[in-house]
Amino acid sequence: MRAARSVQVRGVVQGVGFRPFVFRLANANALTGWVLNEESGVDIHLEGTDPALDAFLRDLRTEGPPGARITSIDVRPSESAGLSEFRIRESRSNGHPTVRISPDLPVCEQCLEELFDPADPRYLYPYINCTNCGPRYSVIESLPYDRPRTTMKSWTLDSLCAGEYHDPSNRRFHAQPVACPACGPRYTSAIGEAASLLNAGKIVAVKGIGGYHLVCDAANSEAVHTLRERKFRKEKPFAVMVRTLEVARRWVDLSPEAEALLTSVARPIVLAPAKVELTGIAPDNHELGLMLPYAPLHYLLFEAGCPEVLVMTSANRSSEPIAYQDDDARERLAGIADAFLIGERPIARRVDDSVARVGACGPVILRRSRGYAPGVVATLPVSRPILAVGADLKNTVTLVIDGQAFMSQHIGDLDHYQALQSFERTVQDLVSMYQVDWKDLLVVHDLHPQYVSTVEALKLPVLHRRAVQHHRAHIASVLAERGQWDTRVVGVSFDGTGYGDDGTIWGGEFFVGSVRGGFQRVMHMRQAVLPGGDAAARNPVQCAAEFLSQIQDLPTLDFPDRYQRSLRLVEKQVRTFATSSVGRLFDAAAAILGFVRDVSFEGQGAMWLEHIAHAASNVDRYAFPVLQEQLDFRPLLRAVAQDRAIGRDLGEIARAFHRGVASGLCEAVQKLSGQYGTSIAVLSGGVFQNELLLGDAKAQLESVGIDIWTNVAVPPNDGGISLGQAALCGVFDA
Ligand code: ZN
Ligand code: FE
Repeated sequence: MRAARSVQVRGVVQGVGFRPFVFRLANANALTGWVLNEESGVDIHLEGTDPALDAFLRDLRTEGPPGARITSIDVRPSESAGLSEFRIRESRSNGHPTVRISPDLPVCEQCLEELFDPADPRYLYPYINCTNCGPRYSVIESLPYDRPRTTMKSWTLDSLCAGEYHDPSNRRFHAQPVACPACGPRYTSAIGEAASLLNAGKIVAVKGIGGYHLVCDAANSEAVHTLRERKFRKEKPFAVMVRTLEVARRWVDLSPEAEALLTSVARPIVLAPAKVELTGIAPDNHELGLMLPYAPLHYLLFEAGCPEVLVMTSANRSSEPIAYQDDDARERLAGIADAFLIGERPIARRVDDSVARVGACGPVILRRSRGYAPGVVATLPVSRPILAVGADLKNTVTLVIDGQAFMSQHIGDLDHYQALQSFERTVQDLVSMYQVDWKDLLVVHDLHPQYVSTVEALKLPVLHRRAVQHHRAHIASVLAERGQWDTRVVGVSFDGTGYGDDGTIWGGEFFVGSVRGGFQRVMHMRQAVLPGGDAAARNPVQCAAEFLSQIQDLPTLDFPDRYQRSLRLVEKQVRTFATSSVGRLFDAAAAILGFVRDVSFEGQGAMWLEHIAHAASNVDRYAFPVLQEQLDFRPLLRAVAQDRAIGRDLGEIARAFHRGVASGLCEAVQKLSGQYGTSIAVLSGGVFQNELLLGDAKAQLESVGIDIWTNVAVPPNDGGISLGQAALCGVFDA
């Protein structure tokens, strides 16, 4: 007796080899019918015996290709049409597409075997790929995803590639970037030569999937030092690429969760505790960021005998966006790289390496880009299209179509002209790829009138715009990931800076409310008045001056001259601004403990403080009490200053400071949770990238019965803001 089923599969199921997989699975189970791509996913019609149908459906869930992410499978009984074979049908197209563009995928096991098989036509071919692997978002120029709309359009398939491309039983059936040495793009310089140069301590600019890397031997401190000098990157940690997981285990401590993250299809840079001395690679850091090879080219470099641990850092000067176009790379990297390894396949858009770690609350993404973007990060209960333009630092944008929130790759800091160009292009790309009509679009931006993203949002040709306060967006980003629209929570946003309702700079805020009902600010850290505008964010001593100027009975501390100058600025109230930023509080504490130079990247003071604190254990906590609905930093910093003056171990002071911040947070949350009747605390904002603080806060809150919710799919830093903006505005308005 033959039965029939109609199956709808949703999620990332296009451009990842899903139809050929369905074709093979149906044939293996002697089922007939068809499969086709349609705009919201893949539709399957199946005919056969009940046991065969059951077997198919079981394996459909578990055996799919590595890049597929199934979000739902809907199975319904259907009429048997007496079909005699299983076919892959032409795609169906009706309304606007909500299909998901696949992120870039790492080269798969089967392609790797071919890559190193001398008998294979693609032996040592750096652009080998199949439907299970290879570039996607980084080569797509427009939708639907077909070769003429990718950066592979100028290479015509030869008979080998065409044969595979058109064969439904082949792994390369409809693999859009398929190519071979006879018909496809090439690397214009020798990979072996690049490997020799790396062995000789040279710096090589290597074109990869989403941009160029600057590469050198991580074990060669001279090479690493030279790279820092030429790149004008004084202290920010470099990431490394290691040849294998075994090598990774020699360099860092890897938990099973961290290994899973490292080997996942996104292949992010994973931060993990280092086992080796990191002087040049990650100064003042106990963590090392490392990743495994993901492009065929990386495997070829290692096979050619290059060092087994390579510094692999974004190819740029200082903190500019990563170079991805050949001419631009040659020009910008001319004084940095000794040699170039350039491939012919163009990169459609800049896609940086993603960064993640397994933290106190589980895996967390710190930079969401290659391997993740432009995936769905949340499903919102809204029908109108929304574009949220994010914040100015670590910018991302989120487009919501039919409730699906697609988050862009990491765009970067919008004060760089090239990042601003990427921002404009990404907005145009997403809106046109998903065929959104500008006039239907609700645009959401930050409350800060002088944010570049705000100014850009005001230029867009739309009728509807809303502003969302920065820290409310942080809190909403966590709730959006979890699909929690009505749950009342205490939201804690500890952050660098963000424009507040009252025009002052916030960053130590407590809210109560829900996404649908809105968030009321109910508590915050006592404000400091910082001198010097933005300069205060760059110099911890300036922060210390004002925080300490509010404190009586301070011991004499040894500060550079800048300290007195800053104090005078504050007294005269010249160029000052009020802030409740916990990020700046960390800077002030770092300065008291001796970090008195300018920071060379955002959050460096806090990172240094965490680094010196992490080895100290069994330490008391300084007081950080709630006083008149404000967290009072004065006892906290007074204790830091006093212990510093009597010469207490710096690590212990830093540790007691972290525990103090956590206990202040906990006291405030406990108070609010009693007052407003909720036992859930949502923590988001850049300060929560600090693992010591997060771990302490978690331990303390859980011991009093409060649940902690943090970001998982999007970063807790400003990279997650665009999701929060979209959710808060979309749901609040709906
Ligand atoms: Zn493959
Ligand atoms: Fe922020």
